[in-house]
Amino acid sequence: MARIGLTGLGTMGAALAMNIAEKGFPIAVHNRTGSVTDDLMRHAGDLAATMTPTDSLAALAARVDSPRTVIIMVAAGDPVDQVIGGLVPHLDPGDCIVDAGNADFNDTRRRSAALAGKGIAFLGMGVSGGEEGARHGPSIMVGGPQDAWDRIADIVTAIAARYEGEPCAARLGADGAGHFVKTVHNGIEYADMQVLAEVTGLMRADGRAPADLAPVFRDWNDGPLKGYLVEITAEILATSDTDTGKPILDVILDSAGQKGTGRWTVIEALKLGQSATAIEAAVAARAISAQVSTRAAGEAAFPGQSEAPGLDDATLHDAVLAARVLGYGQGFSLLQAASEAFDWSVDLARVAEIWRAGCIIRSALLDDIATAIRDGLPEGQLFLAPSFADTLRATTPALRRTVARATETGQPVPAMSAALSWFDAMRRARGTADLIQAQRDFFGRHGFQRTDRDGKGFHGPWAGPGA
Ligand code: NDP
Repeated sequence: MARIGLTGLGTMGAALAMNIAEKGFPIAVHNRTGSVTDDLMRHAGDLAATMTPTDSLAALAARVDSPRTVIIMVAAGDPVDQVIGGLVPHLDPGDCIVDAGNADFNDTRRRSAALAGKGIAFLGMGVSGGEEGARHGPSIMVGGPQDAWDRIADIVTAIAARYEGEPCAARLGADGAGHFVKTVHNGIEYADMQVLAEVTGLMRADGRAPADLAPVFRDWNDGPLKGYLVEITAEILATSDTDTGKPILDVILDSAGQKGTGRWTVIEALKLGQSATAIEAAVAARAISAQVSTRAAGEAAFPGQSEAPGLDDATLHDAVLAARVLGYGQGFSLLQAASEAFDWSVDLARVAEIWRAGCIIRSALLDDIATAIRDGLPEGQLFLAPSFADTLRATTPALRRTVARATETGQPVPAMSAALSWFDAMRRARGTADLIQAQRDFFGRHGFQRTDRDGKGFHGPWAGPGA
């Protein structure tokens, strides 16, 4: 009998199943299309001895020790509900289903509640690190009942990435907490990727070839910007297309895909009244990138408004660092807001810690973020933590120069400028919403608070339609 079951042997599921088998946990596996299961067993080598192939969800459930834990790793959305529907008749009260795919945490909450009614526990488990991570050590973010987590914690911590020996896996709260944290991870990933794309765009607008930029990113990966995304950017810039010999970037269509986690981050930020503007700009930038023909028409209609920005690498380095700190900060304050709204008590320092290895945004910054959070964030904000405030004092002048020069020379830098505007707005004790409040009162008698008196519901002396 197997200790655990897994259905969905696509890219991630197959890698996760082999990782689990490799750590010595007997696992029963299943896939909707049976030939995929056969292929996996053929390619599993020695690991096949620890894996039991099954050809139906009933057979899968029958091969797992009771109380059962079955991982689902299928395409997000309806397929997850379909698989849960197919699995439940073969499970008993006390069993547990783990959704290890990406999921909208609202769906995770709905599924948790529905399954709890049947006595079946549900864990929403975010897994980051792509195929390589799933196979050899991902970062794992779990939400759901403590006792269900306790039953599989040994497996999950065994397969997770390690940072200085510590597993990058944790239960972060009830129901949707794990999937929410994974979603925000991806939102931060969107912002970080976009900033790196923007800065590469600025460098290339100076006529520099990708291969010449690779050493710059390699160098950056040796300092405070050290992290997986900077590392792979250097590698990508150094890569040539095998067919044409051109830089690989020059043969890749500049139209970015997205599966939804960035959008979910922004939607939840808006619902919670938070400002994840750098992430939002990154999501919008992908949408704009997909408008290939419109952009071509735009270039034809508005030629000659772009020049070489001519920014030096040290300025761009600091601009990226400032934007990264601000993007992470927005992500962490969104996590804090969600944790309060949904009563999850997420340990944000632990989140930073489990992101230090295995996941796509792993970077040197996360260790410092964990320390800053444990020391207590003023106003719950990373940008006010003493160490990060020092970093921002040193680097935001470069971000400002970069955004200003990019704007002047017609180069788009939406994520960097969103991060900078957020920073500038956040360091104003008195902003410009006095006029917004006056306008709201003028047309709708919404009332305002005064700076010189207590109380609410004051009105201006206007004779507008709302007066
Ligand atoms: P793949 O496309 O490689 O595999 C999809 C799997 O889902 C297949 O096993 C497929 O079965 C199964 N499936 C799809 N629809 C159904 C259905 N209606 N009923 C039963 N099974 C179904 O996807 P990935 O492995 O890349 O992704 C799986 C999950 O992991 C997704 O939620 C994804 O967002 C998430 N994820 C992916 C990452 C990545 O880098 N790829 C990283 C982190 C998370 P069949 O073979 O029969 O078609």
